Amino acid sequence: MNSIIVPCPACRALNRVPTERLGDAAICSTCRARLLGTPIEFDIATFDRALPRVNLPVVVDFWAAWCGPCRVMAPQFAAAAGELAGEVVFAKVDTEAAPELAQRFGIQSIPTLVLLQHGAEVRRLSGALQREQLVQWIRHG
Ligand code: ZN
Repeated sequence: MNSIIVPCPACRALNRVPTERLGDAAICSTCRARLLGTPIEFDIATFDRALPRVNLPVVVDFWAAWCGPCRVMAPQFAAAAGELAGEVVFAKVDTEAAPELAQRFGIQSIPTLVLLQHGAEVRRLSGALQREQLVQWIRHG
């Protein structure tokens, strides 16, 4: 893998980042936002466009604004995204805004985390996690 393809957290444009530049603060070629280390809000259109091309593992947080544990986990999820920048893409799906995606993944409760590799589900977990638990679960299950 000589480069990774990641969506921009700000404008959702797909960017190719050479792996030797992952240590730098890679920026979006379209809007100049920082590319790595920030969760990306996905709607169904960007999800379907991005997922087949993103060549890193993707962890999706299915959440909703009314869900207390989801709000508690949000800063932990963002911190884990910073820790695994360039290794794993952190995605968020608002189940109120994109109920089709929640339905597609058969989400029964939130928060639910789904880890995807090459678009296929590797594992999932329901309930809020701390940053260290998130990193552990993503890396090792
Ligand atoms: Zn951008």
